[in-house]
Amino acid sequence: MASEQRTLPIRITLVELRPCLKTIGGTINLTPLAMRYLDYLGAGTRLRRRSIILDAGLDYISFRTGRRIGNIWGGIGGVRVARHDLVDVLLETLVQEHSEVVEIHWNKRVAQIREKSEKVVLKFEDGSRHSADVLLGCDGLHSAARRLWVEPDRKKSYTGRAIAMGWGKAKDVSMRFSSGDPALRDTAIFSSPNGILLASYYEPTRTMVYFAHIMYMEEPKLDERDGWKAAGDDQLRLKADMSSCFKAGRVKGVLGAVEDCEKWDLYPVYVLPAEGRWYEGRVLLLGDAAHAMPPQGESTGLAIEDAILLAHILRKRGSQTVEQMFSQFQALRKPEIDKYYKDAMWAMQYGFQKRSWLSSIIMDWAIWVYLLLKRWRQQNHFDRDVRKLPLLG
Ligand SMILES: Cc1cc2nc3c(=O)[nH]c(=O)nc-3n(C[C@H](O)[C@H](O)[C@H](O)COP(=O)(O)OP(=O)(O)OC[C@H]3O[C@@H](n4cnc5c(N)ncnc54)[C@H](O)[C@@H]3O)c2cc1C
Repeated sequence: MASEQRTLPIRITLVELRPCLKTIGGTINLTPLAMRYLDYLGAGTRLRRRSIILDAGLDYISFRTGRRIGNIWGGIGGVRVARHDLVDVLLETLVQEHSEVVEIHWNKRVAQIREKSEKVVLKFEDGSRHSADVLLGCDGLHSAARRLWVEPDRKKSYTGRAIAMGWGKAKDVSMRFSSGDPALRDTAIFSSPNGILLASYYEPTRTMVYFAHIMYMEEPKLDERDGWKAAGDDQLRLKADMSSCFKAGRVKGVLGAVEDCEKWDLYPVYVLPAEGRWYEGRVLLLGDAAHAMPPQGESTGLAIEDAILLAHILRKRGSQTVEQMFSQFQALRKPEIDKYYKDAMWAMQYGFQKRSWLSSIIMDWAIWVYLLLKRWRQQNHFDRDVRKLPLLG
């Protein structure tokens, strides 16, 4: 939430639902683009100390043939880090370097949003209120800013896929090709005809390995929150699903590695429809609140880039009205986000699909071509800088 004045400096009140730093867990791939913006914000060096640098990048491995199909993102400056460490570093940077302009309020759940006399007025569940010149809804997929104000009719939808996340000790994890070479360098995606497993290091000592298994699952019939909790608590079923995907294949040790993980956390994948408003009056949505899409390893960078672009617009056009600045943001950003959205939906639909033996052969070749194209365009793809975008009007 930003208390914007006609002239800088901008003062920001950050309102967080949770009582303290808490995330859904797991690890995050950060692209070179995301890292460049994090360097600019003063968080990059701290973050690299807690991450792995993706020198070998992401290997895509056919579980059926036991071969690397392709590789992307190696040696171009991307990292992987625990989600908790990313948020912790951002918070540390905020507190140490920007405390004079940012005030943080934990444990605040928005109950009502209104506009009155050129102000946004928020009422919280604890009965307190806060007013500001504008509200930035950076509150994720379930965004209250979207539900209560910008576009209550734009509903999230379930993709039919959920992600089970687990952790193993690297000394117990030995995934090898039949040649004896280790199958895991930095990050590996094992693709079997029945499902996908991502394995990755994520901290500099490389003592732990993170696993994420994409699985097909029906949406629970119960209440959404309780239903997913019950599905996540059913550890036997999660493990059985993984065993059925990875019991027969040519990479040794994968089944043992997933069986050794003590606990799996389940996270359903929801998306928002691509079309919709990103702002209404003095309220603007950023990140997943505006454009949640299937995970493709780049969305956190997109959320950070949203914020950088908005700062660019606010700095250069402080004399414009809120409506002009917000509409400029949407006009500049939407075409780029649409491309990512289409790509992520396509990859989810065709990449994460149960396959017959024959179609998995065809799919291995299709993935090889897809990765070649992705690798060919990766340099230009991460070169852009929204701080240099010419502004409209
Ligand atoms: C399993 C999984 C794996 C992923 N892997 C990657 C990856 O490798 N790389 C990548 O780039 N992206 C990845 N993503 C996507 C990435 O997590 C999101 O795109 C990113 O977190 C979006 O950031 P955000 O700030 O918009 O929202 P969020 O990260 O969801 O943050 C929203 C914040 O708002 C708070 N909040 C919510 N409601 C309220 C409210 N009413 N009032 C106050 N505060 C509120 C929340 O507590 C939270 O702190 C993955 C997603 C999933 C589900």
